[in-house]
Amino acid sequence: MRKPMIAGNWKMFKTAGQAVILVQDIEKKLGYGVDGVDIVVCPPFTALKSISTAIEADGLDIRLGAQDMHWEEEGAFTGEVSPSMLKDLGVKHVLIGHSERRQYFGETDQTVNKKVKAALENGLDPIVCVGETLEEHDDGSTNKTVQDQLLNGLKDIVVTDPTKIVVAYEPIWAIGTGRNATPEEANDVIRHIRAVLGSIFSPDIATEIRILYGGSVKPENVRFLMEESDIDGALVGGASLKPDTFVDIIKYDQ
Ligand code: PEP
Repeated sequence: MRKPMIAGNWKMFKTAGQAVILVQDIEKKLGYGVDGVDIVVCPPFTALKSISTAIEADGLDIRLGAQDMHWEEEGAFTGEVSPSMLKDLGVKHVLIGHSERRQYFGETDQTVNKKVKAALENGLDPIVCVGETLEEHDDGSTNKTVQDQLLNGLKDIVVTDPTKIVVAYEPIWAIGTGRNATPEEANDVIRHIRAVLGSIFSPDIATEIRILYGGSVKPENVRFLMEESDIDGALVGGASLKPDTFVDIIKYDQ
């Protein structure tokens, strides 16, 4: 049984102080009423420490995620952050290969692969992002694109505990555009992703790996997405920056 996960990607929004207010507002609105969903927030690096402290002080079960990391343990990599630096701040998850990293910062399937290995070796649970461009969507090559991203990005990865790796399917044309894949469309691609994971690992492991959908998820569409058989949660951008909408998404079945 795969436990649903709702993860918020705050991108390059919120100073440390603003981020603490946001997480506290989320906590207030959440109350103590949400069982059975793993909640993750991924603030910018500069807010990780303050969010970590706030979450710990309030004792609520919100997990901390980072938006990226380097694969090396340390070294002359100006501007980069290592896995152990994230661990040290109480980070549990790390987004890897988000389309904005691929599009603007030269992330490739090969760097994704190094980062996934480094995350698992360091006890961080990767959320590996895949997804096709509008062009690929329109020419019918979605399945091939995500398959290549997974075969290369997860090459030579050994998964002993399938709960420690999460895949996020995010069609690039649906991110921040207000346009989202229909639940059926998203589920079809996610079912394909699960089959590819089965070929990389094993069908049993693939059955246990959580696969999220991301791309303009809102309170109005989350329930329909979550009703689909293979969609195990959501990676939420814009709507995770507002406590009301993020909590409504988390409480999709209430
Ligand atoms: C994202 O950034 O991962 C994302 C899905 O953004 P949005 O929800 O704003 O489309």
